[in-house]
Amino acid sequence: MKKISIIVPSYNEEQAIPFFYEEINKISEQLKKVNFEFIFVNDGSKDKTIEVIKEYAKKDKRVKYVNFSRNFGKEAAMYAGLEHSTGDYIAIMDADLQDPPTLLPEMLNFLEENTDYDCVGTRRVTRKGEPPIRSFFARMFYKIINKISKIEMVDGARDYRLMTRQMVNSILELKEYNRYSKGLFQFVGYKTKWLEYENIERIAGETKWSFWKLFIYALEGIIAFSTAPLAISSIAGILFCIIAFIMIIFIIIKTLIFGDPTSGWPSLVCIIFFVSGIQLFCLGIMGQYLSKTYLETKKRPIYIIKDTNIND
Ligand code: UDP
Ligand code: MG
Repeated sequence: MKKISIIVPSYNEEQAIPFFYEEINKISEQLKKVNFEFIFVNDGSKDKTIEVIKEYAKKDKRVKYVNFSRNFGKEAAMYAGLEHSTGDYIAIMDADLQDPPTLLPEMLNFLEENTDYDCVGTRRVTRKGEPPIRSFFARMFYKIINKISKIEMVDGARDYRLMTRQMVNSILELKEYNRYSKGLFQFVGYKTKWLEYENIERIAGETKWSFWKLFIYALEGIIAFSTAPLAISSIAGILFCIIAFIMIIFIIIKTLIFGDPTSGWPSLVCIIFFVSGIQLFCLGIMGQYLSKTYLETKKRPIYIIKDTNIND
């Protein structure tokens, strides 16, 4: 019998987990032809999430937990879940039911019938219930990153996906510290079928993503999957050389025709400010890449486990 591992990154989800468990349990009863394993990764929650999970683990042998020593972020939680999964198929699902478990049977059927595919991903086609500014920036982000990165990022793609063991093993081989999973899933390749659905609002609790956090996350995605920003300084440099050259010619001609009254001090200050601004900006971009490289070379663990029942 085939086995499915469901990975659930959970951070402050004490309210949502009971709903989630009920739903996924219903689905597992429908899908009699497969075994289930639920891996809850408690990402250093500050509420009673781990207690709730442990209660379920007592009652249900399929419930496994990996309890982090602190909050390491959703990327780390997903990675830990993938590392500890043992299923032939592996799914990642949010605890808040924004990733509808009801899609799972369809996803599984598809993978079983089309063995040339290794992944069924989901993308939301609407952003209903989201602030308009956030949607606008999200769209911009996908436009920019798809222009400057060789990896295609799918707009609206969620982390909710069902993958084969082979694909998960490939993902686990990417051991980088700065993880940007949307890119990593695409990087490993394999054929992915996209299912579309309308955005669903979270069942309980609240989102952990502020606008600012999303903005930083977007920058991380760009830095992890494109080196185009590094080219900005070279391009700016060339551009300024050309402008300077034109200006020199202009000034020489002007002096020859009109003589040389002392002037141009305000424009000089503006130019100095502008050029030094560009220089700092380019230096900042290089600093971003340097800091990521710095973190990678430290080879710190992506997560630290406090306790787990995986091996019980
Ligand atoms: N999550 C996590 N660690 C974090 C933040 C979030 O494991 O530091 C989990 C969270 O519990 C949820 C999923 O990641 O299961 C998605 O988070 P959320 O629903 O807040 O994001 P949104 O759906 O609003 O994008
Ligand atoms: Mg959510």
